[in-house]
Amino acid sequence: MLIMALIMLVMIRILSNTAVEYDIKQDLRKSIEQNIRNLSMENGNLQISEDFQYESENVRFLIVRQDLEVISGEYPKELQEMLQEFSVKNRVSRSIVVDGAKYYVRDEHIRRSWLKNGLYLRGFVKKADAESHYRVIEWSSYLCIAGVLCVVLACELFWSKRISKELKKMCQTAERIGLNLDMSQRMEDDNRFQEIAVLAQANNRMLDRMEQTFQMQEQFTSDIAHELRTPVSVVMAQCQYTQERAVSKEDFDTAFGVIYKQSKKIDMMITQLLNFSRLDQDRALLQEETIDLVEIAESVCETQQEKAKDGISIRMHLEEAVTTGDIGLIVIVIQNLVTNAVKFSHEGGQIDVSTGIEGEWVYARVEDRGIGIAPEDLENIFRRFYQCDTSRNAEGFGLGLSLSEKIAQKHGGRISVSSEVGKGSVFTLYLPQK
Ligand code: ADP
Repeated sequence: MLIMALIMLVMIRILSNTAVEYDIKQDLRKSIEQNIRNLSMENGNLQISEDFQYESENVRFLIVRQDLEVISGEYPKELQEMLQEFSVKNRVSRSIVVDGAKYYVRDEHIRRSWLKNGLYLRGFVKKADAESHYRVIEWSSYLCIAGVLCVVLACELFWSKRISKELKKMCQTAERIGLNLDMSQRMEDDNRFQEIAVLAQANNRMLDRMEQTFQMQEQFTSDIAHELRTPVSVVMAQCQYTQERAVSKEDFDTAFGVIYKQSKKIDMMITQLLNFSRLDQDRALLQEETIDLVEIAESVCETQQEKAKDGISIRMHLEEAVTTGDIGLIVIVIQNLVTNAVKFSHEGGQIDVSTGIEGEWVYARVEDRGIGIAPEDLENIFRRFYQCDTSRNAEGFGLGLSLSEKIAQKHGGRISVSSEVGKGSVFTLYLPQK
């Protein structure tokens, strides 16, 4: 702001100086042209009419010969020395500095005065005298600028105080939220200052999302606690039973069998939670390895076939499907899908696992003819801890599909599902072909 004002002042100074100089020269020219009309030559003699002026406004006149001899009029004392030697130049305005004061001088040839070696009307003006009224204008503009500057500064001070007051309020709200972690608080977003209102709205949107995340986190923690409680209670009950009632080796074996199963379940849950947390925090930077879905599907199916009871058979229809990504994570996804298919198939059920390429995607598809999923459950199965029917799924926690979906998304892919109650389900993992 100040710099702008300074630049303006300098500009005014330069422009006014140029304008003043131009105007003085113009006035000098006009005065000479007017006054020279009062001079004439008759029979070789100079005639000076009564209207001739030796001084008009700030311009002084004298008549000089080509050789600088003064014919009429008089130089002021301070200029005598200088101008007496200042050669004659027809119709050219020139400047000369005498004792620090600037003068403009102009000569004009008097018509038909050649006979007398040429006579000239010489006019000169002192810059300081002529420019005084210009300086008034110049100083008025300086004052105007200073006035405007003061008003603008006062306004700026006033508004900046008000704005900083509003910003302080926002900071206080932020501090309060930080101190109490009270996510329900919001900033005033109906502020009269548009920019502050926009900032407050953006902050409030961020707080909305943070509150949501906090709530999800709280829900997540409570779900974990809830899910862990059952196996831990079973373990505790078994311990108490063996301590108080177990008498035979079989009793101990049974109790330890139950404890082992429940511990395995807890361990599985912890592993899944750790995978989640790694994926959430982006700590698990995805490995960029070559992924051969055929190989993975084969290995997973073989393992699951060995484990599968009740005459469930897994058929494979594997066609080339190669991409890149994190093998460890993709194995988890295919394992979850095949495990679920086995888990929710009927006795002697058939499961088909296929791989291949569809457009820009490679896919791994797991199709079962098991219990199927109801439409109202279908939209929830990817939520953490969601289980359609807990009684049928004693081993799971409802984490497998949400973890699988997250892994697929991290790879730029997705999991699609179609299912019909009583007929079976089809889960397909799609990954971008690279
Ligand atoms: P879980 O570890 O409990 O299996 P998932 O996240 O893998 O957790 O699955 C969530 C729920 O979706 C399961 O509890 C089950 O009710 C349903 N589900 C998943 N896959 C199938 C399937 N192939 N057939 C029927 N229901 C399934």
